[in-house]
Amino acid sequence: MAEPFNVSGQCLCGAVTYKATATSHDVNACHCGMCRRWTGGPLLYIHVDDNPVFTGADAIGVFRSSEWGERGFCTKCGSILFWKTAGKDRYTFTAGSLDDQAGLTFTREIFIDDKPPYYDFANETERLTGAESTATYLDSSDKTE
Ligand SMILES: [Zn+2]
Ligand SMILES: [Zn+2]
Repeated sequence: MAEPFNVSGQCLCGAVTYKATATSHDVNACHCGMCRRWTGGPLLYIHVDDNPVFTGADAIGVFRSSEWGERGFCTKCGSILFWKTAGKDRYTFTAGSLDDQAGLTFTREIFIDDKPPYYDFANETERLTGAESTATYLDSSDKTE
């Protein structure tokens, strides 16, 4: 289901809201160590088109977690909102921050080789190792050099 559709979402306290165009109904999970420290569990997210529109942007904190990634959160309530490619307008939003999650489909897990053994999703998903994930998502346009 790769049909773009409009999404909206917000943080827990409502200081930050956003509107964006999702590229598909697919939900991805990232099991990497950075996402687990950031979220307390796997990061569940959707891909959106460039240039999402925010309200309350002054409440958004951004943490540069790696050479290629930035993580956005609400500085008032701590909700995590997005991961974006550093220096670009390429965003993913957390599935849990979406106002309407009814039509989503959980399709892909990345960094599956970093997943700790204490949990497994029962969904049938495409599962990529960290190396496969990096090769898929960091095409030449994303590399900083
Ligand atoms: Zn908030
Ligand atoms: Zn991750």
